[in-house]
Amino acid sequence: MTDEVHEECGVFGVMTPESCDVARLTYYGLHSLQHRGQESCGIVVDSVDGTWSHKGMGLIGEVFTREVLDLAPKGRISVGHVRYGTTGGSNIINCQPLEIRHERGNFSIVHNGNLTNTCGMRKSLEKTGSILHTTSDTEVIAYAIIREALTADSMEDAVSRAMESIKGAYSLLIMTEDRIICVRDPHGFRPLIYGKMSDGTVVVASESCALTTVGAEPVRDLDPGEILTIGPDGIVSRREHCGTRPRRSCVFEYIYFARTDSVIDGVSVHAARIRSGIELARSSPVEADVVIGVPDAGTDAALGYSRESGIPFGIGLLKSRYVGRTFISPGQDERVRGVWLKLSVIKETVSGKRVVLVDDSIVRGTTMRRIVKLLREAGAKEIHIRISAPPFTNPCYYGTDVGSRKGLIACDYSIPEITRILDADSIGYLPLEKLSTLVGCDEYCSACFDAEYPLPIDGDMSADV
Ligand code: SF4
Repeated sequence: MTDEVHEECGVFGVMTPESCDVARLTYYGLHSLQHRGQESCGIVVDSVDGTWSHKGMGLIGEVFTREVLDLAPKGRISVGHVRYGTTGGSNIINCQPLEIRHERGNFSIVHNGNLTNTCGMRKSLEKTGSILHTTSDTEVIAYAIIREALTADSMEDAVSRAMESIKGAYSLLIMTEDRIICVRDPHGFRPLIYGKMSDGTVVVASESCALTTVGAEPVRDLDPGEILTIGPDGIVSRREHCGTRPRRSCVFEYIYFARTDSVIDGVSVHAARIRSGIELARSSPVEADVVIGVPDAGTDAALGYSRESGIPFGIGLLKSRYVGRTFISPGQDERVRGVWLKLSVIKETVSGKRVVLVDDSIVRGTTMRRIVKLLREAGAKEIHIRISAPPFTNPCYYGTDVGSRKGLIACDYSIPEITRILDADSIGYLPLEKLSTLVGCDEYCSACFDAEYPLPIDGDMSADV
């Protein structure tokens, strides 16, 4: 069990006016979404000679070598995906894009999120003779679309009708031979944004950072429930599912998942994190000599804490960015078992100091315990942990890998107990009622902090029932 919450996926799609190296554009877009999924990735291109695809386990740079990208044909449409497998597990069969061949039309589909009625839908599909090849909920969505396509007038109609039966969190890109149909679920749990380049190329992605990476100007986020087609008729929006459910975008995107240079639903992630640090300094003040952040998401909140408290900000922890899936982890050999590659301490910043240590969350506590130990070994005099989110006490069923309360430290222990377990001098969390200051409204999901689930789940999904 890891000590981090993992976002399930990131999606990217592009449609260009002329045939070009769209696979490479998708590669660059996915590269900037790598933080949303590091276990597998894939790209599909629609070319004059048919569909080309490549998928594999590992980081974008590992799966898409120069040789692989040189083999990709030119085309006008491409979609890609980075994945951290939760529903369905992590193996090659669940890699996306999922390619569907059917007499009503071929399509490739990529998905960020998690359905909440997968189990029921799988059972009813299997009872009527359907054979599911993967264990991921994305295949269930594809089935729902194909079922509707049998009688629908258009692919968009089929998608719209399928949205009546699929429940949960989904930001989807569905690529046919002449269009990309982009869908955001009616609650808008996961982000989805599109933008344009000066030559008329249209790009759609989980986060705005992927648009800016490829040189596209963001146009706008899709609205919850919107179906947006990028195709022969330009950009066409359908809104029959918009406003049918309350907006509930994931507040944890701002706290932790998203890249700090992204803007989601008009709110800068960086600015939201700074605000969380400011609120934290107001609600949990302490006398100290330096404020440091746990990279990456803790750094912005640490800046906010420093600004509000007047305690100087310092770089106290350094994160290694180059540990890929194929890297040989320490652990087998007794001599290297103690090696910790992820973070190291800058001793000058913390030695002999009273340190405020800001992070975005404590999930199971193992990483934080280790960080405190590193800081103590480097000579920190006091360590005051400040968390830019409320205590993480409930599972998330909308696209992360925390499916159970089991092992969540804030579930099992009180704050004084956690302080003792982590060997800290004090701990302060962001008050629940201050979450709205991050996003500037109250239309968000915060179920992992307050158990206010916007959408019921299949009983089978919860490991706690
Ligand atoms: S439960 Fe938490 S992580 Fe999951 S969607 Fe809601 S806010 Fe985000």
